[in-house]
Amino acid sequence: MKQGDILNVAIVGGGPGCKAIIDMIFAEKLSELQMKLIGVACTNPKAEGYRYAQERGIYTTKDYRDLYKLEDLHMIIELTDREKVANEIARTKPDHVRFMDHVAARLFWDIFRIEEERIAQCKRGEEALRDSEERYRTVLEACPDPVVVYDMKGKGIYITPAFTEVFGWTPEELLGKKIDYVPDENWPETQMMINKVLAGESFSGVESRRYTKRGNILDVSISAAIYLNRDRIPVGSVHILRDITDRKLVEEALQKAHHELEQRVEERTAELARTTKQLKLQLTERKRAEEALRVAHRNLAAKADDLEAANEELSQYAYVVSHDLKAPLRAIHNYSDFLREDLRAILDSDRKAYLNGLSRAVRQGEELVEDLLELHRVGRRAVPTQTIDIGVFLKELIASLHLSADVEVVTANNWPTIEAEPTLLRQIFENLISNAIKFNGSAQKHVEVGWLPVSEERYELFVRDNGIGIEPSRYEQIFRVFQRLHTRNDYEGTGLGLAIVKKATAKLHGSIRVESKPGEGSTFFVVLPKTQEER
Ligand code: ADP
Repeated sequence: MKQGDILNVAIVGGGPGCKAIIDMIFAEKLSELQMKLIGVACTNPKAEGYRYAQERGIYTTKDYRDLYKLEDLHMIIELTDREKVANEIARTKPDHVRFMDHVAARLFWDIFRIEEERIAQCKRGEEALRDSEERYRTVLEACPDPVVVYDMKGKGIYITPAFTEVFGWTPEELLGKKIDYVPDENWPETQMMINKVLAGESFSGVESRRYTKRGNILDVSISAAIYLNRDRIPVGSVHILRDITDRKLVEEALQKAHHELEQRVEERTAELARTTKQLKLQLTERKRAEEALRVAHRNLAAKADDLEAANEELSQYAYVVSHDLKAPLRAIHNYSDFLREDLRAILDSDRKAYLNGLSRAVRQGEELVEDLLELHRVGRRAVPTQTIDIGVFLKELIASLHLSADVEVVTANNWPTIEAEPTLLRQIFENLISNAIKFNGSAQKHVEVGWLPVSEERYELFVRDNGIGIEPSRYEQIFRVFQRLHTRNDYEGTGLGLAIVKKATAKLHGSIRVESKPGEGSTFFVVLPKTQEER
């Protein structure tokens, strides 16, 4: 018989041992042995192994010697447990047939059982390993981050579906190979990680970058754990590559925003510094301007003082001249009256006209002197300030003017009181009312005197007429001394009335203005403070 040929076996003894061997042959547990059962001999046809063989169509006989006739029988196994039978078979069997008695068969049987048990154990171990592998695989595959397992040579031996999903490579493309996906600039930290793995050290959260199959670059946070074999020697490493591209983008955006903010703060600070500098400059400039203004003001005040002094001097001069002229004029006046009286009978009409002209000229001279003295006196008399009921004051003033029938002066009803020097108030309203009547060509001359409050502290009093009116271009002029818009032939006067009004108004800390149109009458407005305190 050659190696690999089938071993044809016959069993003597149809007990339980026989049945067990038949079972093993049919279960192909002895397939390694290439054994085939071709006959069973037993003196007891009811024995269970014997019947079992019959049921499976195996040749059976009561006499074991029948077995010798079987063609191609290679071995007889004796399982009767009887020495005598064993010896008998050993003696009578054909030479080419091998023989195994029940002692050797039991030994074989035990060895076979032990081996079977070992194989079963191995199988259980393998299954447990498979289960455990399956468990870890499930855990790894459930991990949402890409995971790759390397051997110690750095070759990929396992990648998770998440790895394929994120980086694009399939297990077929990678396993057993080194993964070439590190950008050049990310080698320093990658080399550091490789060194750690080779030294058997784990690490976590190392930030780096990796290419995907499509060529994109992802930011990743890498953690790795070493795994050991039974002898505690590192045999590989498990790497988790968390994709932190989005987080990096957010971080970068934050960084950018932070940077921009800093830049803006810097700009604003610089701007502020510039503005402060400008403000300081402006302040210095302003201080300088204020100083210049103060100097100008002082100069102006000095000039005003000078002017006032000059005015005073002039006024004194006018006063002296007027005063000194008063007596000679009075004398001329008187002498011309005497002459007219004495010569009344003998003078012809021409001479009388000369004398009248002389008298008129002297009267005008006297009026002028009076008005000049009046102007000089404005505010100089030591008249104390009084509380004046303006309504009563006006009534008395108008009565003293002895107005003719063609003149009507209307005053308001409810006049307030005012604090003022009565002389000044009289100078103001006597002149204004006189002018309102004088410069008036209407058949019925109408003058209205009224008032309105302008503020908490001031009243505005007005004198309105239906007279000849004034050109707006002359409003300023008429308040100056000797400024008249008409000749003496048209209207009597010295040109000093409104100058006196203006000066008296100023003395009462007030102001005067006019509104008028030629032919439509004029209104003179006088604004006066209610009191004269602390001015
Ligand atoms: P006078 O009355 O002596 O002429 P004023 O100083 O009082 O001098 O007036 C100056 C000039 O102002 C007057 O000559 C006149 O032309 C003009 N004027 C004054 N009051 C009026 C008025 N109510 N209507 C028109 N003109 C006036």
